[in-house]
Amino acid sequence: MRLVEDGPWRSRIEQTDGMRVPGVAFAPRELLPLEPGDKSLEQVANVATLPGIVRASYAMPDIHWGYGFPIGGVAATDVAEGGVVSPGGVGFDISCGVRLLAADLDQEGLLPHMPALMDRLDRVIPRGLGRGGLWKPPGRAELHEVLRGGARYVVEHGHGVPRDLDRCEDQGAVDDADVSQVAERALERGARQVGSLGSANHFLEIQLVDAVLDERCAEAFGLRAGQICVMIHCGSRGLGHEICGDHVRRLDSAQRRYGISVPDAQLACTPVDSPEGRGYLGAMAAAANYARANRQWLSDAARRAFRTVTGADLDLVYDVSHNLAKLETRQTDGARRTLCVHRKGATRALPPGHPDLPPDLAAVGQPVFVPGTMGTASYVLTGVADNEAFDSCCHGAGRVWSRHRAQREITSGVLRSELADAGVTVRPTSWRSVTEEAPGAYKDVDAVVSAGEHNGLGRLVARLVPLGVLKG
Ligand code: 5GP
Ligand code: MN
Ligand code: MN
Repeated sequence: MRLVEDGPWRSRIEQTDGMRVPGVAFAPRELLPLEPGDKSLEQVANVATLPGIVRASYAMPDIHWGYGFPIGGVAATDVAEGGVVSPGGVGFDISCGVRLLAADLDQEGLLPHMPALMDRLDRVIPRGLGRGGLWKPPGRAELHEVLRGGARYVVEHGHGVPRDLDRCEDQGAVDDADVSQVAERALERGARQVGSLGSANHFLEIQLVDAVLDERCAEAFGLRAGQICVMIHCGSRGLGHEICGDHVRRLDSAQRRYGISVPDAQLACTPVDSPEGRGYLGAMAAAANYARANRQWLSDAARRAFRTVTGADLDLVYDVSHNLAKLETRQTDGARRTLCVHRKGATRALPPGHPDLPPDLAAVGQPVFVPGTMGTASYVLTGVADNEAFDSCCHGAGRVWSRHRAQREITSGVLRSELADAGVTVRPTSWRSVTEEAPGAYKDVDAVVSAGEHNGLGRLVARLVPLGVLKG
């Protein structure tokens, strides 16, 4: 594999045997995963071999090693040219994503209530493994409604306001969910976990708007310096995980019939226009709706806790997935085509004027969220015009250490005092597992968002710092 630096901000993986397009990494050298044995860049090159891929196999600045695709990987395939869909290009936590809620409250107003608020959130936000969720669907019919209706179903049942849906990607639900493609075991797991954070990297965080970097966008997003926000990061729990596993197996055994062979079994794929490809997309859409419903339920619980303890309301800024494949019709390289855009550990970032934006965001673009770590800043960006990677942006700081290595390198005692010094209250389900998520296990988020901005993936709007974190 030949990696060539194209200036200070990006590198190219030259097209060699089997690659249909080059690889492009939107990262300066110091953010690239170059440790011996790390396969992330090889994964970028492998993705470039997928049938129908157009333009390039992209890596966001937070790129790290994933299942098949790297995390921070973006690839679009041309449906009319036999373009494929690959569940590994979405990941196991289908439609994992972030939503940000802004409080009508400043830091001074929050401080006296902080301990009581953390206690209450600790009690009402289900998290960790096997703890159940906020809502148990009474039967399969109701679960199916969630899989079809997403956040819309939750709002219609009184847990949110109609404006929430205007501020959700796809207005809270995608249309093409096919429940018949979801296996019984996935439904069983899903039924027990509606309204739950999950574990590890998933969190609900109370944050302070520490700096506004673009006044006009911040105002349109409803953000101002000194304000309190809540960021929620979670996905489709066991339901998405089961669906990914089931469909990887199905596509793996079907792909040879379509004359497809991939360099890594984790890249199993079939044409979008095949029963297997359509089947996966239908099941994926069901999981995407489940994840949005999940975030809506958790927002409802957070709102109640905030109202009870502080009297403040929470307005949804935006909700966007960072693990999803989407069929998008775009003008690409001189022709109008329908592309299957895989974003795996990458957030959609629509530019100003895009028809899918709600009217009050049309002038400024789509809010993009880049969580950092529980001990460092997180960022809000906005989508910009002429984004080379099909309107995609980074989704986090990105790991530098595996979970295993982080547990080895960091003791919970050191982490606890580090966080206490930084003034961050953390309520984990277990301190041992939280060391996997220590700030030292991640890249420098400031450098990551700066690389995103220099590569035209988004523009910085605000910096948020953590005050209190509920970890899975
Ligand atoms: P992923 O979706 O890849 O699991 O995680 C997305 C990003 O979330 C990670 O790359 C990391 O930067 C960030 N992250 C993980 N844990 C926390 C946390 O507790 N708080 C914040 N603000 N960000 C986190
Ligand atoms: Mn996730
Ligand atoms: Mn995620």
